[in-house]
Amino acid sequence: TERELARLDRLHVIGEMAAGIAHEIRNPMTTVRGFLQLMGSRQAVPPKDMLDVMVEELNRANSIISEFLALARSKSTDRKRQPLNRVIAAIAPLIQAEATLAGKSVLLELRPCPELELDEKEIRQLILNLALNGLEAMEAGGQLSISTCCEGDCVMLEVGDQGSGMNPEVLGKLGTPFFTTKEQGTGLGLAVCFSIAARHQAKLTCRTGREGTVFTLRLPMNGAPSPDIHA
Ligand code: ADP
Ligand code: MG
Repeated sequence: TERELARLDRLHVIGEMAAGIAHEIRNPMTTVRGFLQLMGSRQAVPPKDMLDVMVEELNRANSIISEFLALARSKSTDRKRQPLNRVIAAIAPLIQAEATLAGKSVLLELRPCPELELDEKEIRQLILNLALNGLEAMEAGGQLSISTCCEGDCVMLEVGDQGSGMNPEVLGKLGTPFFTTKEQGTGLGLAVCFSIAARHQAKLTCRTGREGTVFTLRLPMNGAPSPDIHA
């Protein structure tokens, strides 16, 4: 029956994801175990860079698990009518700090928009994931721009960078869990973004070129327009 097929389909997806997770977590564990064994056999204080690598690898395993959990959640649990601009303002200092640390800048252009039914934690996560990707894409420095505006029956959020863009092969794989071109990447950031967008009935699209990449999220303003306009 259709229902049974849907269930098997889901099991299949879960199986695939589990295999991916197992693989991704095993890599950092193997690295850390190797270092620990080496330290045990030498009975010496390990050099600082070895310890740094171990911490980094454990951090990576940790992000894989938390991003995977975000992905596995099927429903937004905490939706409230609120202005998107306020959610952005809440996460902006963190993005600003990351940018400053890396010698890059951030431009916020938040235009007045009506309130939307949003899960604040999820939308923060989505913006953060897009912003971090944008910052990481600008190896030679540059400006990350985050903007909002109203367009038709949608509130539009754009996160743009001045990186070198993506080739068609990378573009075609965006959102595939565990797809990454980065040495320390989890390949889960965009998959999480797409699943959060879907849970908000929103569309996440991307345009990319040699001058950079822009991700656009279109959140529908369902129902009557709200009289509350927030800058
Ligand atoms: P991760 O950042 O851990 O690699 P993501 O799912 O966030 O995983 O991104 C997947 C891949 O998509 C990245 O490794 C990168 O190749 C590409 N990508 C995502 N955002 C951008 C961007 N703004 N500019 C260039 N490439 C990007
Ligand atoms: Mg990422």
